[in-house]
Amino acid sequence: MGNPELRRNAMIRALSLTILLFSHLSVAAEGTPQATVEMKLQQVSEHVYYAMGQAGIATDNQGFISNAAAIISQQGVVMVDALGSPSLARSFLEKLRSITDKPVTRVIVTHYHADHIYGLQVFKEQGAEIIGPEGYRDYLEAPIAQQRLAERRQSLAPWVNEQTRLLPPDRVIGQDTRLDLGDVQLEISYLGTAHSEGDLSVLVQPDRVLISGDIIFEGRIPFTGGADTVHWLEVLEGLDQSRLKALIPGHGPAATNPQQTIGLTLRYLRFVRGKMTEAVKEMIPFDEAYEAIDWSDYSNLPAFEATNRRNVYGVYLSLEQEMMGE
Ligand SMILES: [Zn+2]
Repeated sequence: MGNPELRRNAMIRALSLTILLFSHLSVAAEGTPQATVEMKLQQVSEHVYYAMGQAGIATDNQGFISNAAAIISQQGVVMVDALGSPSLARSFLEKLRSITDKPVTRVIVTHYHADHIYGLQVFKEQGAEIIGPEGYRDYLEAPIAQQRLAERRQSLAPWVNEQTRLLPPDRVIGQDTRLDLGDVQLEISYLGTAHSEGDLSVLVQPDRVLISGDIIFEGRIPFTGGADTVHWLEVLEGLDQSRLKALIPGHGPAATNPQQTIGLTLRYLRFVRGKMTEAVKEMIPFDEAYEAIDWSDYSNLPAFEATNRRNVYGVYLSLEQEMMGE
């Protein structure tokens, strides 16, 4: 290293390595690295904004695959769902700050699935009360919750990491509930076991905007693992959309034509249940039944490859149980 030029280059390299290490350390100390995916808050009505996750599977797009909404009232901001990582929740909060400086007082969790709850700690740190559905324990206290978190700490590193925590609701809702926020009223419907072990939807008044959670998917194959598809269909068929101005699904774009948005989930669930009912009745083995189905109406939708076969198998198994019980 007699050459001064080489020595200088080596010093610059060492210095930039040190800076790099320190910047990583500061991120690690905070525990929430800055998400770098694009996130936009879109206004749906006077009081309602939402961010739309990209259509895809759980580990795509830094985990930003589900939607979250903010309802801005005289009495502060109510979030609906908390996104799939603390980093994403922090991004949302930063965007929110360009719209309002009101505090986030509550987060309503439409259902306890990883892609909607991993950001909860960020809102909790802000002092928000977490409101969740009855039935959340069936997820949160089952081995699956910890197994999934361990798996996501790998597959969604560094966005989901050792600092990412699972938080239960501070307040549990097991029946239809009204929250009065002054200029805004929230009608929270408890939907029972439909898409998950406990589902809530939130109707925002006077805006007439329904935030549905995952009972409605748009623009991708719905995820039906662990679902009660019979009750799910009942819930969808019972939804009165005639008075809605807009609907924000759990995944996919908000719709100003709610009837159309419900269509995909409804059609898909009916199709899968219909086909699998025939198969179970005829005692056709699953693989054979699955291969015989024409999936062309759905196979071009995002998440088809990753989700469809497992979805359909779950429905097959639950139908076997239903029919054995008859
Ligand atoms: Zn979801």
